[in-house]
Amino acid sequence: MARQVKRAFRYRFYPTDEQAAELARTFGCVRLVYNRALEERTRAWYGERRRVSYVETSAMLTTWKKTEELAFLAEVSSVPLQQALRHLQTAFTGFFAKRAKYPRFKSRKKSRHSAEYTRSAFRWHDGELALAKMSEPLSIVWSRPLPQGAVPSTVTVSRDAAGRWFVSILCTDTVARLEPVEQAVGVDAGITSLVTLSTGEKVTNPRHERRDRERLTRAQKVLSRKAKGSKNRDKARRKVARIHARIADRRRDFLHKLSTRLVHDNQVVVIEDLNVRNMVANHSLARVISDAAWRELRSMLEYKADWYGRELVVIDRWFPSTKTCSQCGTITQTMPLEVRDWECGGCRTRHDRDVNAAKNILAAGLAVSACGADVRPKRRKPGGRLVTKQETQPVMVGLPRL
Ligand SMILES: [Zn+2]
Repeated sequence: MARQVKRAFRYRFYPTDEQAAELARTFGCVRLVYNRALEERTRAWYGERRRVSYVETSAMLTTWKKTEELAFLAEVSSVPLQQALRHLQTAFTGFFAKRAKYPRFKSRKKSRHSAEYTRSAFRWHDGELALAKMSEPLSIVWSRPLPQGAVPSTVTVSRDAAGRWFVSILCTDTVARLEPVEQAVGVDAGITSLVTLSTGEKVTNPRHERRDRERLTRAQKVLSRKAKGSKNRDKARRKVARIHARIADRRRDFLHKLSTRLVHDNQVVVIEDLNVRNMVANHSLARVISDAAWRELRSMLEYKADWYGRELVVIDRWFPSTKTCSQCGTITQTMPLEVRDWECGGCRTRHDRDVNAAKNILAAGLAVSACGADVRPKRRKPGGRLVTKQETQPVMVGLPRL
């Protein structure tokens, strides 16, 4: 069975000088509009407890364009500016729903430079893409083909800190659902390895990661020694940015392969709520796997599971996966980070710390999974009963809690 999904395809492109200038101007206006609207919304929220709507900010934009000070906003395509206001609206929706923090201002140095164009602001013809206010199409490196007959619905142009230009093209694609399989897997965020699976497999960080990180440390040292505002400092900064970009690219590749394999091989994939990892943050963990990598892996698993008809289960944040024996359910009171393997006081089973945690994550996930009745956990609870779906409502009944 096939289904239609929205899918983004990202490519590098090389702008002409004229295009680069137009885009830089647009990025600046996008940032300004976003920040101004955020300022207005903040004033209304903190001053009067009043929520400003997208429509109101859109009306403000119209007024700004008519002032002498901000007349230049009318010179770039209006679509990316409207999109910035929509993004801000989304950020506030998340904030009011208590899903996200209060939106932050975009900074010229730290924020990603980007502009989003919807259908009315670009031309797509014979595989050529031209943005509003530009005469020539973008010179895109088609590193992989767009799906046959694809029509882009949204185009996002960005420039990273290393000065590379990207265009991300959103279009509808057809993906075939995979045949159902019986396997299920629990995934634990490791300390010594990137992830550990309930099968006992440890997925380590790619080998180049460490070398890249060493290079990064060196480049950062060089940068810190350069005088502020000097040409050399600029050069050193670019080098740091290039290494960062390479780490991110390679990591993304790696995570794509990993998430595809997990979704392909398993009907159910169980992970812990990754936010937990921030709360119980320890620095060695933070260094090996950055938060960004985790968010990336989770979101890849989310959409790939959805595409291919698999299930991703995200389990409770305070589940003591590390301290619980996956054989008999006995909880060990303390489990310092340096303990790599341990023996259960209840059943004398010897556990690898991470594999045991992954097994617990799997069992907890299957207990709440929609497919839980078909894919039964092999684990027995302390009483010796098999965990079945009926017994596990609500979430985690029967599983010991801290
Ligand atoms: Zn035990």
